[in-house]
Amino acid sequence: MSIAVLSLGESATVKEALARLNESGKGILLLIAGDGRFLRTVTDGDLRRLLLASGSLDETLSNLPRISSVTIPPRYTRQEALGLMQKHGINHLPVVDEANRVVDVLERSRIGEQILLSTPHMGDSELDFIAEAFETNWIAPLGPNVDAFERELAEKVGASHAVALSSGTAAIHLALIMLGVAPGDVVFCSTLTFAASANPIVYQGAEPVFIDSEPESWNMSPEALERALFEAYNAGRLPKAVIVVNLYGQSADMDPIIALCQRYGVPIVEDAAESLGASYKDKPSGTFGAMGIYSFNGNKIITTSGGGMLVTENEDFAKRARFYATQARDPAPHYQHSTIGYNYRMSNILAGVGRGQLRVLDERVNARRRVFNTYRSLLADLQWLHWMPEPSWSRSNHWLSVATLDDDSPIKAKDLITLLSADFIEARPVWKPMHLQPVFAECQYYPHHPASVSDSLFERGICLPSGSNMTDESIDRVVSAIKSVA
Ligand SMILES: *Cc1c(COP(=O)(O)O)cnc(C)c1O
Repeated sequence: MSIAVLSLGESATVKEALARLNESGKGILLLIAGDGRFLRTVTDGDLRRLLLASGSLDETLSNLPRISSVTIPPRYTRQEALGLMQKHGINHLPVVDEANRVVDVLERSRIGEQILLSTPHMGDSELDFIAEAFETNWIAPLGPNVDAFERELAEKVGASHAVALSSGTAAIHLALIMLGVAPGDVVFCSTLTFAASANPIVYQGAEPVFIDSEPESWNMSPEALERALFEAYNAGRLPKAVIVVNLYGQSADMDPIIALCQRYGVPIVEDAAESLGASYKDKPSGTFGAMGIYSFNGNKIITTSGGGMLVTENEDFAKRARFYATQARDPAPHYQHSTIGYNYRMSNILAGVGRGQLRVLDERVNARRRVFNTYRSLLADLQWLHWMPEPSWSRSNHWLSVATLDDDSPIKAKDLITLLSADFIEARPVWKPMHLQPVFAECQYYPHHPASVSDSLFERGICLPSGSNMTDESIDRVVSAIKSVA
């Protein structure tokens, strides 16, 4: 808000003040002394009382009573400012510096604006696809939008088959079922991920073994994987599958991982829930394993509010996944079942949202990459802040903008998160690794050599607001909040 347009001296008349109030439209003025010091705020009501008492529009503001208005010093948090406004029932709060000069005026209607980590961002065509589903009464699960979404996504990532599902977790679960994972089996999984990557291993009664990250991409360490495979081979307990996660929109270093898995004959499930639209050596992320999975959960780069997709080159996997996802109904009219199935299919309505979202995927990737690059350049002078690296073989979708803080940074990651939250900015720690989760405490873990990389990323990492719909103003707010600690 422009301070000049709100500022008036004591010699100003009621008439001038009313005209100024009218002009600014803010409902508040600042009474400023000849030497620039702040005296008090002036509202409509103050002017009305002055006018009633004197009976003249030419009365000057010097006759206003000298009350002391509520102000806040420049290093405020939004939480403090909002608290003061609520407490005093005021809608404007002057920010006053040590020399008693107004440097800003905060507005209650704007001070509470939250900047969230990652919010849905709809395009122009989602509603059209939903409307079509309504008009044709294809509200039931399955239908033309589901078929089209599968076809369009498969084409987008260059996969032969895609199966639309109710969630990314369901997609991982079905992938493990396709690979025959059963009680007593072992499945390897990246440790630095969201629990949904690993939970389906346990659904199948199998045992997860967690593999650390390497520092170059923060994804599965080929070195730790090699050790784990070698030991498993010697113990006669090779895993049934390796779930490779592409963290925060960046592919793992697939070539060495694929080479290792091929050497031991172990299939890969690629958890690309966070990396749709990213690529590894120019090939779309999610298309490297026996099966890949994507998520369309509300916080992902594109969303159907909830949903997932399984992609594969193997027609048999795709057919069987569809079969299991629709309650494993045998081809008979009388509801016959020879195996246990699941209700995992995507609805035709949500697939309509997905089709619309897929059309803006490239824009969403570019927008998230821009958010990341803007943070990086605006915060370049903070030596203690290190951005998630992007190796030359990777084109990340930068689903989240993530950084780590040095040991000698002026603040710890968790305190920075608290500080940002007092400014209504949602930041999060890096995923808590699976091998540190109470529920997986008994599971085996292979750290990268010599020390665990994921432990350190968890301790020092911070995920910043990264939505594709973030304005420059919001990015600037995050940047200044971080700079304020330096
Ligand atoms: C979101 C996510 C999932 C789960 O996807 P849902 O659609 O929410 O079930 C799995 N793995 C990772 C890495 C994720 O980020």
